[in-house]
Amino acid sequence: MKIAILGAGAMGSLYGGPLSLNNEVYLIDTWNEHVNEINENGLIIQTTNEEKIFHPKAVTSAEDVGVADLVIIFVKSVHTAAALAGSQALFGEDTIALTLQNGYGNDEDILPYVREENLLIGTTASGATVLQAGKVFQAGIGPTNIGTRGNLNTKNIDKIVQLMNESGIECYASDNIMLAIWTKLMVNVGINAVTALLDVRNGFLAECTPAYEIAEELVKEGTCVAKAEGYELDAAAIAEKYYIHGAKVVGNNRSSMLQDVDKKRKTEIEKINGAVVRIGKKHNIATPYNELIVKLISAKEESYSFQ
Ligand code: NAD
Repeated sequence: MKIAILGAGAMGSLYGGPLSLNNEVYLIDTWNEHVNEINENGLIIQTTNEEKIFHPKAVTSAEDVGVADLVIIFVKSVHTAAALAGSQALFGEDTIALTLQNGYGNDEDILPYVREENLLIGTTASGATVLQAGKVFQAGIGPTNIGTRGNLNTKNIDKIVQLMNESGIECYASDNIMLAIWTKLMVNVGINAVTALLDVRNGFLAECTPAYEIAEELVKEGTCVAKAEGYELDAAAIAEKYYIHGAKVVGNNRSSMLQDVDKKRKTEIEKINGAVVRIGKKHNIATPYNELIVKLISAKEESYSFQ
């Protein structure tokens, strides 16, 4: 299959490497040094005990790829709309698009480019960070779940699930993918902004009562909004499972928003806590904790250029 990965940073590389073993894979990224390094020396995926080298093709422009069978979108969610607008060359009549990005609303950004039954959405429990150009660290490995909005065209889902598993990526078809996306959103709603503002690793939430309580309030608002959209989630159970028990497994992780703030990059706040605020407004649900944290992170982003 001809696969284009749009955004080949940590996660795009983590998926693109193994997929290139038995597919024609193009990694598309605006980061020239990374693209050159992959083409010259291969893409290195480092795990805790080994280094694997893959040889996908890397390019800086979708024009160099042309129409793909599958486009996997792995830019940060705040860049989805712009990245797609510059990559129309990838999309033909039958192209399938898949997003495993964090945040809410990536599907809406992708929908103008594909037929709705060809739009796959999902979640990944894997994690990665970029170490240097051409090299990423596999921070954790977990299942990928995919589905479609409204459970359309399950043939496409089965095809991509099989493709992933054939490349060694554990992947499942989900018949309620929106619930999985809302659950993942709630995990990020509580962890990301709080750890980014406090400059702490994820495990801090399990140790610090005020930080845990803020995370829990953010998630409570999020679950009220999810309920109004038809998805029933338990805020206390999410906080307990991911912030207390999760700390034992991924407590040492630095959240992606903390990493963005460290590198003075735009964060995904608008697609995470910002989504709770936006959808809350639609249902007349007050979301004061999320509103405040969106403003705090937005102010943090503006402070990057303040002298
Ligand atoms: P990343 O910053 O490592 O990679 C994104 C890449 O997109 C960068 O290399 C950047 O140069 C590139 N890019 C930006 N604009 C582009 C454009 N217009 N065209 C082509 N490339 C462009 O980000 P990541 O950590 O891989 O995260 C990607 C998505 O996956 C995010 O939504 C993130 O929340 C989600 N996610 C990340 C992890 C993780 O552990 N890193 C885990 C689960 C989900």
